[in-house]
Amino acid sequence: MEELRKDPTRGDWVLIRPRGAPHAQDACPYCPGAEHLSGPEIAAYRKEGSPADGPDWTVRVVPEPDAYFRTEWELVREGVGMFDMITPRGASELILESPHHDDTLATMDVETIEAVLWMYRDRLLDLKRDSQIRDILISRRHKKPGVPPHHPYSRITAIPIVFYETRRELREAREYYQYKRRCVYCDLLRQEIGGEERVVRLTPFFAAVVPYAPRVPLETWIVPRQHSCSFEEALGPEVGRDLAQLLSEYFRALAAGFGDPGYECALRTAPNLRSRILQGDWATIRDDYHWHIQVAAEPERANRVGGIYISETPPEATAAQLRDAWPRPAA
Ligand SMILES: [Zn+2]
Ligand SMILES: [Zn+2]
Repeated sequence: MEELRKDPTRGDWVLIRPRGAPHAQDACPYCPGAEHLSGPEIAAYRKEGSPADGPDWTVRVVPEPDAYFRTEWELVREGVGMFDMITPRGASELILESPHHDDTLATMDVETIEAVLWMYRDRLLDLKRDSQIRDILISRRHKKPGVPPHHPYSRITAIPIVFYETRRELREAREYYQYKRRCVYCDLLRQEIGGEERVVRLTPFFAAVVPYAPRVPLETWIVPRQHSCSFEEALGPEVGRDLAQLLSEYFRALAAGFGDPGYECALRTAPNLRSRILQGDWATIRDDYHWHIQVAAEPERANRVGGIYISETPPEATAAQLRDAWPRPAA
C-alpha cells in the first residue's frame, strides 16, 4: 500500500510506503556489462548501432529499483473523510552519468557532464508529455551519510503533486512578481553581480552565487543570467557547454578546497505547465519564475525527496504498536 497523504494542519504531503527488501548486491548493477541487472533502459546515449541494454553507452537511464513513484500505478485522488490522499503515480528513474564506476562530478570531463545535462532535458520533455505528472525533480547526491559509495547517477522523481520546496519557491516568486512586476531571481542577480561579495563565478550565461541567507554550509546557487522559467526550454548548445564547464569547475573546487564533502544538488525548473488543476494555475510563471540549480553541502540524512517526507511505517501500524506497548493496569 503506497499513498501520498496530506497533513491538513501543516500542509505537508507524506509518502506512506512499506520498506523495500534490502538488496544485497556484490557487483554494481550499473557498470557496463551488467545491463541485464538494471532493468530495461528508458533512454541512452550510446555508440551508433549498439543495441539497447548492452554496453557501449555514455549516459543511460534505467528505472529506480524499489521506486517511490511508478507510471504503471493509476492516478487516484480520494477524500478519506476530511483527509486527502493521492496514489503515488509518477516515475522514479536513475540517470547513470558515466560508464565509469568511480567517476564523480569532480572527475568527469566536461563533455560527459554536458551529455548528462542533455539527458536531463530529454527526460523532462518526455515526462512532461504526461499531464498527470505535475512536477519533476532531478537531484543528485554525493556521499550520502549511511549510504555506501555507488555508481554515479542523478535521480529523477516525477510526481502527481508539486514538490513542497518547489511550491514554496513558486509562491514566493509569484508574490514578488505581483508586487513588483519583476522576477525575483533577475533582481537578485542584478544585485549580487553589482555587489560581487557573494558571487563565486560569472560566465557568459551563468552566475554561481552563495545566497544571502544560506540554510546549509557551502550552499551555492547556479542561476542562468538570461530569464527563463524552464531548464529544458533554455538549454541550447552554448548554454549547455557553458553550464557543463561551470559545474565541472565548481565541483572540482568543492572536492579540492573543502575535502570532498558530501552534497546534494537539485535542478529547480518549472513544474509541468500542461498539468493545470485550478483555473489560473501558472498564470504568470513564465515571467515570475527562473530556473536554477541549488547545491547544498552536507545534506541531512532525513528521508525526504523535494521536501516530501517518506514514512516507511504506516501511522496506523505505529498507533497499534504503541497500543500494544501501553502499560497494562496491574491486575
Ligand atoms: Zn558501477
Ligand atoms: Zn528572471
